[in-house]
Parts: sequence; C-alpha cells; structure tokens
Amino acid sequence: MISRIAFAAALAAFSSSAFAATAEEEAYARFLMEKAISYKSTEEHGETRKLAEFLAGEFRKAGFAAADLEIVPAGKSVGLTVRYRGDGSSGAAPILFLGHMDVVEADPKDWTYDPFTLTEKDGLLHGRGVVDNKYGVVDLTQTFIRLKKSGFVPARDLIIAFSGDEETGMETTRALVEKLKGAAYALNSDAGGGFDAGEGKTSVYYIQAAEKTYATFEVTVKNSGGHSSQPREDNAIYELGDALKKIQQFRFPVMWNDITLRSFAVDAETADDETAVALRRFVEKPGDKKALKTLEKQTGLNSVLRTTCVATMLKAGHAENALPQTATATVNCRIFPGVSVADVQAELARVVENDAIEFVTLDDPVESPASTLTPEIEAAVLNALKTRYPNIVAVPYMEAGGTDGLHFRRAGIPTFAIGSLFLREGDEPNYHGMNENLRVDAFNGGLDHWSLIIKELAGKPAASE
Ligand SMILES: [Zn+2]
Repeated sequence: MISRIAFAAALAAFSSSAFAATAEEEAYARFLMEKAISYKSTEEHGETRKLAEFLAGEFRKAGFAAADLEIVPAGKSVGLTVRYRGDGSSGAAPILFLGHMDVVEADPKDWTYDPFTLTEKDGLLHGRGVVDNKYGVVDLTQTFIRLKKSGFVPARDLIIAFSGDEETGMETTRALVEKLKGAAYALNSDAGGGFDAGEGKTSVYYIQAAEKTYATFEVTVKNSGGHSSQPREDNAIYELGDALKKIQQFRFPVMWNDITLRSFAVDAETADDETAVALRRFVEKPGDKKALKTLEKQTGLNSVLRTTCVATMLKAGHAENALPQTATATVNCRIFPGVSVADVQAELARVVENDAIEFVTLDDPVESPASTLTPEIEAAVLNALKTRYPNIVAVPYMEAGGTDGLHFRRAGIPTFAIGSLFLREGDEPNYHGMNENLRVDAFNGGLDHWSLIIKELAGKPAASE
C-alpha cells in the first residue's frame, strides 16, 4: 500500500495534468491480464497469434484504425504493431514501445494453480507471464487505450512493437526491426524496474541501457580412436580436458563503460564496506588493480566487469571399451558490448594452445552496442517514478543479455528498458519458473507509469483534458 499512498500524496501536489488510473481502468487492466494469461502463447502451444488478434480487437474497439494495426508473421509466431498517430508537430521520428507476447512453457503439474488461469491469492497474482512479460504487454496496451480515449494526440507517432518469440528464436523481433527502422529510440517493458526500499528510504530504479552479447561455441577434439586396451598418449577426452582447464583459468581483460561506472557508483551506496570502497575506487580510477581484486571475487560484479566464458555441457566417446574419437564441450560466453564474437573465438583458440581443436559458433549471435541514455529520457522516467517514490535514484545498467532490445540496438535504434514494476524484499516472482507471481499492488502501482512518460516525451495533452 505504500506506493499507492505515496502516489496519492504526490498526485495532490502534482499538476492537474497528472493521470491516475480509476477503479474502472484498473478493472480493465485486470481483464486484459486475465485474457493475456489465458492464451497459451508458448512455442509448443502456439497461441501467440490468438493473443495478438485479441489485443488488436481491443485496440480497434478503442478507436485505433485497422490500418494502424498489423499482425506480423515470422517463423512459427507473429508480432503485433500498433501505430498511435501523432500530429507531427514535434517533427521527431516515432518512439517504439516493446514487449513480448510469448512466454516460457509451463507444466500445470508443477504449479500450485493452473499457469494459464490468472489466479489471485493472498495479494499475489499467479500465472505464466504475470511478470515476464505479459504485464508489460498489458500495461502498454491499457496505456495506449486510455490515452486514446482521453483524446490525447501525441506530437510524434508512438508505435507498439510486441514480439511473439522473444523466449526462443526472436524471428518476429527481427521482422519488427526490419519494419520499424528509422525510429528515434525504443522503450522496452521487458526489463528495467525498481526496488521498493520502503517508506522513508531511498528506492532505486534500474534502466537497462546495454546487454552483453550471448554467444555459444562448441569446442571439439577429434582422434582416430582405437581399442581401450591399448591406450596412447593422444586422447580426445584428455586433450579437451586440458583445453577446458585453460579456459577456466583465463580471464578476459577488464572493461567498463559509462553505464557500468554509473551503476557501480549506485551499488556502492548499499554494498558492504569493503566492496563500497572498491566500487568507488574503480569509478574514480577505472581498471584499478586493487579495486578489481575485491570486485572480481563477487560473481555478480565480475559478470559486468568483463567478457566471461564458461563450460556448460560435455559429450565425448562412443563406447566404454573404445578410445574416444571425439570430445565436445559447449562453452557459453557473455561478451562485453564493443567486443566481437570473432575476437572472443580467436582469444579462446589462442588460450587452449592446441591447433587441432575446432571451434564452431552456434546459432547466430547478435552483437549490440550500448545505448547512451539521454537527459530527456532519464528525466521523463524519473519524473514518472517520483509520483510513486518521491525519494528515488535512477541508474542505467548493463544486463547479461537476452531481450528484444539486442536486435533494436544492433539496427541503430537506442533502446532502454524501463518496465514499471517494483519488487520488495521477500518478493519471489520466479520468472521462467513455476508459480510465477506478481503482487496485486505492484500491478496496479505501475498502471500510470507509461502514460506519464509518454506525455513528457511526446507532447502535451489535448485541450479536452
Ligand atoms: Zn522477457
């Protein structure tokens, strides 16, 4: 309830253009969520198209022209675009709003409640996708519809781009990017978010502005094999083992950018004494060896200090009484923005010191640059947040990787994830896991987030309001 009280207080002091969800609007958002959860938009069940069609119907009922709604098929799924036409008065390119309609598979046998029926219990909403990312989709949908009904005309076009296979192949994402080239920037509902520290304390909000590149290599040693009663010096399994030990011991060079330095400065506020000193030292003297000694011992910090690669799977040999003819390890890397996948592969090949080892890159890694947060966007986000959390700091961060934002950034569209949800101590949303859940008051608390930001970034409300 803290957030609602804070919000009400802030509203009283805020200008008359503030925009708070009415009970009716909260009920409508809940209805959208019930429907969204009921569509099994997983890769296996394939109901993403049905969800897209349902949403398109809601937009049409609210007054969006059929010509401004498009279902975009790609691969096994579909994306959805919704254009909110502006009057063009700002002369600026459109702003994109991202979310994904698909969800990770959920087996009802593992869940307390049916994953595809929105269930409220003890102040929590349960269902597959309540946090990742059907809330984002519902939140943006109800925002566009509320703004439209209020008569708001933006000063530039606003375009929703919902993907339909973010959790799997991202083919719909690629198709959306292709259609929406030339947009000014994208705001993503699928990451970013706050930590609600409680009344009177400073809460922190994280804006995702960069993602590491996700790349996987298969590392293989081949051998002519033979009978296991006649072991030889050369052996595919031992050679692969030697190579993996070298990869384990190797550390990629330490790196930093504006985003990681700013997030370290904020992390220092809440870290233990030793870590706080090291973080501040690193911010002052990036790359500082002494600071690094402390920081790289911590898994979470080490992952944003450098490219990392780690062995994740192994397969080798074909019979218990035969010398192995092949041994393969899977090595998963999270690459610092600005470093190419080819350079990482070359570095690993150098490290293993064995020319006979083959490297194969799996899938098609997406290299994406960091996006530079503009003061305009940062201020709009902060002003919206302050209506809920008067004492808040916002900070950009770099994520280990994996949202639609990668593809938009790669196409030259700066992308910032600014989801509206706040977690509290004790929350366990369990993204991708069983019993995924979301607090009801977090759900309602985020319903004004996007409209406040849109009004600040895309012009003044219409005279009718
Ligand atoms: Zn997601």
